Amino acid sequence: MGSGTGTRYGRAMSPTVIDELVRANQKYAENFRDPGMDARPVRKVAIVACMDARIDLHASLGLELGDCHTIRNAGGVITDDVIRSLTISQRALGTESVVLIHHTGCGLQVLTEDFRTELEREVGQKPGWSVESFTDVEQDVRQSMARVRTSPFLLHTEDVRGFVFDVTSGLLREIDASEGPRDAGA
Ligand SMILES: [Zn+2]
Repeated sequence: MGSGTGTRYGRAMSPTVIDELVRANQKYAENFRDPGMDARPVRKVAIVACMDARIDLHASLGLELGDCHTIRNAGGVITDDVIRSLTISQRALGTESVVLIHHTGCGLQVLTEDFRTELEREVGQKPGWSVESFTDVEQDVRQSMARVRTSPFLLHTEDVRGFVFDVTSGLLREIDASEGPRDAGA
């Protein structure tokens, strides 16, 4: 559990960020109309992207509510859990295309696997996951595309494309999967 600083039961305290979010949601719901959609993404696309706060996926790709699945984590890495989500996205909810988005200035480029070693030293337990840090963003996009394309669980691996989003220009740059060494390994 956390330190407790974000958990609030008292009323006299100034609002936390989560209090502000809850208030914003109440306003949102006032104007919200049930779009009447089912859970299947209208444009049959799943997007795997870094969690970076500077990437507004919907705005930057012209997406509307209900259009796509968005799967985000630190780095936009294709982990087993991302494959789980993509598998459900394709097999249960009808998506057919996969877009992978990494970006310039990613926090994972400054981390190394030492992060994991230091974490283990601090908490006395080895995490079950890799940090998945990288230095070459293009190569990491290629590796991610290869992991998706070679997954035995996915139904659709023909339309898989990878990009680097430039956080200063807002532009996507497509990465050619055929360049550079391939690595489908975990
Ligand atoms: Zn990132």
